[in-house]
Amino acid sequence: MKYKRILLKLSGEALMGDKQFGIDNNRLMQYAQEIKSVAEAGVQVAIVIGGGNIFRGVQAEEGGMDRTQGDYMGMLATMINSMALQAAIESLGIQTRLQSAISMKEIAEPFIKRRAVRHLEKGRIVIFGAGTGNPFFTTDSAGALRAIEIEADVILKGTRVDGIYDMDPEKNPNAVKFQQITFDEAYAKGLNVMDMTAFTLCKENKMDLVVFDMNQPGNLMKVVEGESIGTTVEV
Ligand code: UDP
Repeated sequence: MKYKRILLKLSGEALMGDKQFGIDNNRLMQYAQEIKSVAEAGVQVAIVIGGGNIFRGVQAEEGGMDRTQGDYMGMLATMINSMALQAAIESLGIQTRLQSAISMKEIAEPFIKRRAVRHLEKGRIVIFGAGTGNPFFTTDSAGALRAIEIEADVILKGTRVDGIYDMDPEKNPNAVKFQQITFDEAYAKGLNVMDMTAFTLCKENKMDLVVFDMNQPGNLMKVVEGESIGTTVEV
């Protein structure tokens, strides 16, 4: 295995599958299977999942809502997704723990780094919910922050695109994919990899990032084994 401890960042939108809103159960179970495979292969897995399939603060603001209120609602949306993913993984017989950045003691542990690391060492999958716990951030930033805190080897950003391209591949058939790119190159080229806060956190703390297509069965295992199927971003 190339990586011993990973932080898997999944978008909330990906959980919709072909639906317009909410959680598609087939997609949820597919992700749970993929995660189970790498955990059973001995990889320590921590997960951050977004909430865009349910609620986004920015969109609420466009509709006239106070941004802070909207962002807290977005963070609650990540908890719904985290709980769904937790249930799906546990239904496959793998132990998990959910830690929340906003205190919700009836359903999740508080985020405590030492405790998270201990869970990982015991082979439990740890899901970090409620983003960073602060408005004006995203779950990409939460992923970067938690990855650095728990000293993960890498952030694996699972998307529906198989890596980073010089142009949007869904709009331009001539778009060219990068196998490997540095943070500075990605910034200079104006590539949309993560939001700038997450990007800067990764760069300053030398946290590598791999962007890959999570919807292709078996891909998560391939990335963890070191096969270069996505794009690696390094310092
Ligand atoms: N959010 C926030 N602080 C955080 C993480 C998330 O305020 O640390 C809110 C924000 O409103 C965001 C929403 O939660 O739009 C859902 O997260 P995100 O948009 O990152 O989800 P994804 O795009 O990955 O589905």
